[in-house]
Amino acid sequence: MSAHKRSVQDHLDAACRYTITPRGDSEHLIVVPTTNTDLVAAVRTVPGARWDGQQAAFIVPTHQRTALALRTALTSPAARGLNPDVHPDSAASLAAAADGPAPVDIDLDATGENFTITTPHSVPLRDALSDAGAKWHNTCWLLPVTKAAALRRVIRNHGLHPSPAAQNAIDETNGPLRYDGSIDGLRGVPVTDLASVRSARATKAGTLHERLAKMGIESVYDLLTHTPRRYLDRTQLSKLAQAPVGAEVGVLGHVTKAGTYDRSKRLVRHTVHDGSASLQVTFFSSPWQAKRFREGMPVVVWGKLDVWESGRGRVLQMTNPIMDPLDNDTDLIVPIYPQSGTNDVSTWVLRGITSEALDRIGDLHDPLPESIITSNGWLARREAFQAIHTPASLEQAEAARVRLAFDELLRLQIVLGISRAQAAADPAITHAPTGDLTTPFVTNVGFALTDGQRAALQDIRADMCAPAPMHRLLQGDVGSGKTLVALTACLMAVESGTQAALMAPTEVLAWQLYSEAAERLAAITHPDGRPVRVEFLGGKTRAAERRRILGELEAGEIDVLVGTHALLVDDVTFYRLGLVVIDEQHRFGVEQRAVLRDKGRADAAGAVPDLLVMTATPIPRTAALTVFGDLAISAITELPPGRTPIATEWIRGEPVVDSPLAQPWDVIREQVAAGRQAYVVCPLVEESEKLQAASATETYEALTAGALEGLRVGLVHGQMTAADRDPVMAAFKAGDLDVLVATTIIEVGVNVPNATVIAILDAPRFGLAQLHQLRGRVGRGPHASHCYLIGEPKSADGVERMKAMCASTSGFHLSEVDLRLRGSGALMGDRQSGQSDLRIADPVTDLELLEIARTVATDLMADDPVLARSAQLRNEILTALPTDAAERLTRA
Ligand code: ADP
Ligand code: MG
Repeated sequence: MSAHKRSVQDHLDAACRYTITPRGDSEHLIVVPTTNTDLVAAVRTVPGARWDGQQAAFIVPTHQRTALALRTALTSPAARGLNPDVHPDSAASLAAAADGPAPVDIDLDATGENFTITTPHSVPLRDALSDAGAKWHNTCWLLPVTKAAALRRVIRNHGLHPSPAAQNAIDETNGPLRYDGSIDGLRGVPVTDLASVRSARATKAGTLHERLAKMGIESVYDLLTHTPRRYLDRTQLSKLAQAPVGAEVGVLGHVTKAGTYDRSKRLVRHTVHDGSASLQVTFFSSPWQAKRFREGMPVVVWGKLDVWESGRGRVLQMTNPIMDPLDNDTDLIVPIYPQSGTNDVSTWVLRGITSEALDRIGDLHDPLPESIITSNGWLARREAFQAIHTPASLEQAEAARVRLAFDELLRLQIVLGISRAQAAADPAITHAPTGDLTTPFVTNVGFALTDGQRAALQDIRADMCAPAPMHRLLQGDVGSGKTLVALTACLMAVESGTQAALMAPTEVLAWQLYSEAAERLAAITHPDGRPVRVEFLGGKTRAAERRRILGELEAGEIDVLVGTHALLVDDVTFYRLGLVVIDEQHRFGVEQRAVLRDKGRADAAGAVPDLLVMTATPIPRTAALTVFGDLAISAITELPPGRTPIATEWIRGEPVVDSPLAQPWDVIREQVAAGRQAYVVCPLVEESEKLQAASATETYEALTAGALEGLRVGLVHGQMTAADRDPVMAAFKAGDLDVLVATTIIEVGVNVPNATVIAILDAPRFGLAQLHQLRGRVGRGPHASHCYLIGEPKSADGVERMKAMCASTSGFHLSEVDLRLRGSGALMGDRQSGQSDLRIADPVTDLELLEIARTVATDLMADDPVLARSAQLRNEILTALPTDAAERLTRA
């Protein structure tokens, strides 16, 4: 062999050889490769292998994964038949590493600010790491420790092993949240304790923290109780080619074209194919949606399927769908959160941060006794929070919602229970009605009381005789005879030696109440012959008169004082106030109750007067258990006998005010000819009382010049003084006017049994409760009555209201329709404190749960009134409670 040949052979040998030697630190090997390019490529795939240009060699870390990979590389087709020149030490360390302990894939770099991730390449892992925000840097991935939350997911899904130092760093930013394990404790954990919130990218709308705050999510409690609005069920997938256009569908496919963010159009557009057809997916203003997807990636897309015709035919498309890579992390049931577009917090972002919160809350204490949980088959609280956000099935999601809703309702019921207990503990007057006044009154009233009136009076008597203050709500439909019950109650107080205050919401109504009271009580005298004295005190009562009344009241000479709610606030001092009746009011707030307590203290007895609140607004069961939960309720369910039902008719379109022959004027004229009377209610002008008055005057003028010409017509509205208005009302009551044109000031309390027609102009603008009240002005006597609703509704709800009015005269039924149309928000509109905490429960749809909560609350408090034995629950309630009630609990 020639020298030349030999040198070629040597050269070839050298070229095919690689040497592997220890670097001296026992943690790395130096791999000096041959010039064989395939071999170079093989070694290059070894994770963490770094090319060192100076040494012209790969520096390879010796941990388990590397060792295995290097072995693979050495036996690759490219390396086959070539003799490795492995230094014995290297061979030993390779062997040791290959069989050694679990390799560390994640460590901290020298600065401690970054994770270093060295791990064999795989496409999914590479994608997951780059999704997590890691950057490839020479030999390994680098990820700032602030992004530990994102890394946690990668670790879980890909089975990586962090070093103890890395694990520490993960735990530090991502370990269990610091709180006391109670749900209220989570109120004190700001969302910024979540790494995923801190490290999230800011958008134009601000940092994620700021954007969440705008949605009212500031604590982890807020976040966990921000529950999904609905769920997507990914087990229900469609094929694009068969999917109905316009419907919301889920599709499983893969990305055939991954788009990039188009700055000018502010959109990202991907193409997805599911084997049956192609789908164009467009995201607006969401640049991140570009980075999440790559070509070939399997994805699930959920959204409304649209179609548009392009030059090239039909294009299926979805805009801003829920689209996720399909990895082993993909949940089958996907929560959709009430998102806030303007605040730029997508459901996807909420899913991410909520999942971190759930991972980090650890054990969440459950305040409910185990027995209640098991007997109802409920989830524990911790499970419920987990399941409402990441349910395994839709059934599980509902089970979770039920449990969390119950917790809220229970808190509410306990608060109400405390409030009741508190009221009961106030010093009260124990009335002892003698019957001296009530017996002659009821006997001579001219008719027999209805069963409902009797039952209500029995309830009231029992309350008034009890040593605790009465807190009773009397509910009865319009015309059911509540006033009579109120007057009888007043007499019970008076014959027991106390005074009564009778109040109405407006001066007009108060005056009417006074007139009726004065008339009906005129003949009633005390056993000593002194007449029962009723007086009226109003805003316009002259000073001298007012002074006289106040003096006589304080001296105990006046028995019943009638007025507006101002009676409670003004410097009105009673000799001995025993009963307060508030008519046509169904809200009686915490403040008013405090005033009542003070009124009692101010008088001679120093006791809290009994309270009777009356309303014609029917109380659905759910309201009875929530808004009025601290009041006892009596209901008059029947009307006095002899009433004929009111026929209601809806006349669509504009009223014809100039023709006496048009409906309903023809009927009004007919009825007037027969000796009856009628009301015409003017269109509602909400903007101002002035405009309302102007409009009423206009209606009055048009009608008197047109449809009602020749009839005796009067006008009343809210801008008239009592001096101008009272004579009109009196004339109508006396039958000297045929028709009363009025605004809603006649809504309640007006009692003219001879009136048989009411025409409500622009009726669709009124609420159901108001329409029902207005209709209640007729049908109060023996004659058949009519109600005409005139107008064209502007909404579907308006149509529903008109139909409901025509179909039913039951206030109870109408209030349920109203509740359904307006939702529970309407019911809870001006709820009191402690009730504003309903985030998950809906008292209307969760009625059954509400009943259970009521029972559980009552049982719990029956043998443990201050919840001394349920510390958890007690603490939770203290957070939700108005302060005075909280005091009561802590006064244990
Ligand atoms: P409400 O205030 O509940 O709407 P009212 O107390 O104004 O009803 O009563 C309506 C009308 O029914 C009044 O004229 C009243 O005198 C009359 N009324 C009350 N109770 C009875 C009864 N038991 N039988 C017959 N008429 C009654
Ligand atoms: Mg009344």
